[in-house]
Amino acid sequence: MTRIRQLIDKLEKNTSLSQEEYTQLIREIQKPDMEYLMEKAEKIRQKYYGRDIYVRGLIEFTNICKNNCYYCGIRSSNRNCERYRLTKKEILECCEKGWTLGYRTFVLQGGEDPAFTPEEMADIVKSIKSFHPECAVTLSFGEYPFEVYKLWKEAGADRYLLRHETANKKHYETLHPVEMSFDNRMRCLYDLKALGYQVGCGFMVGSPNQTPEDLAQDMCFIKGFKPDMVGVGPFIPHKDTPFKDMKAGTLEQTLIMLALIRLSLPEVLLPATTALGTIDPLGRELGIRAGANVCMPNLSPESVRNKYTLYDNKLCTGDEAAEYLKSLSNRMNKIGYNIISARGDRYGFKRL
Ligand code: SAM
Repeated sequence: MTRIRQLIDKLEKNTSLSQEEYTQLIREIQKPDMEYLMEKAEKIRQKYYGRDIYVRGLIEFTNICKNNCYYCGIRSSNRNCERYRLTKKEILECCEKGWTLGYRTFVLQGGEDPAFTPEEMADIVKSIKSFHPECAVTLSFGEYPFEVYKLWKEAGADRYLLRHETANKKHYETLHPVEMSFDNRMRCLYDLKALGYQVGCGFMVGSPNQTPEDLAQDMCFIKGFKPDMVGVGPFIPHKDTPFKDMKAGTLEQTLIMLALIRLSLPEVLLPATTALGTIDPLGRELGIRAGANVCMPNLSPESVRNKYTLYDNKLCTGDEAAEYLKSLSNRMNKIGYNIISARGDRYGFKRL
């Protein structure tokens, strides 16, 4: 039994790994042990979620952002990005269409667009919940004060996605301009948790300057924070950003991290992301095999789908489109999994 397999077995038995052990695993794992890791992750995933896959209708409601993250294609200083924002009416139409297609969670994701005031966002959430009380609403709209998150929670929002991006403050500062703060990002995550949201954190795999130690630190942070969801996908460069010449994260690295997250937090909601589907035509399926249990097809109006360009060649057509649920479903059936129409809360989550 190799040292790497011993560490995987330790994780499977729900024993915590130290940061040094995670680092060794991430740095040294090779092909045969990777397969061993994927098998264990798939087994644990099936123990908690069976062969079900939850789907979310993703509504990218604005690509206007006040932030200037070095990696992101919708950063404020990108003059080549064609900007848009949806109206409340358009957002509600997306939900209506999503409902008919079978979606029971709507994810409203956007750049930090100051034109949407906290009160307007609360009003949008309230309207969605009044039309579709059985559906969950997930917000992914960036950093706000506690009081604003509280307002949105009281309006009916169920979940919030805010990737921490990296748990290493020094690394965070190489990915973001000085006006953005690691401490505030972390503050937001703890506020969201205190307010009773199902909370998602996460990071890009292979982001510039990232080391195996950084990824190990991400794992230790996640293990301690106990999020309900973790969003993890490869970093992919965008041509109009300072990171345009950087290498993308790889499929293998991303699958390893997905599997480690599933083994470390067996009950977590874990999407096979669009970025994973973008770097490999079978990325989504492989992500599911590595322990992911969520897919988030695009439910935005067709006219804006190609404008939410976080990175180059981002998928937004074919099985990526919410309308092609049947086709995505067929693909998942082929690997032995079933897409189901349900809110898809985290295993064991108790709604008040
Ligand atoms: N404004 C919200 C926020 O800050 O959480 C949500 C939108 S933000 C664009 C969503 C996520 O996209 C980020 O958390 C980041 O991890 C991911 N992202 C941005 N640029 C990317 C890139 N070049 N490659 C892969 N993922 C990227």
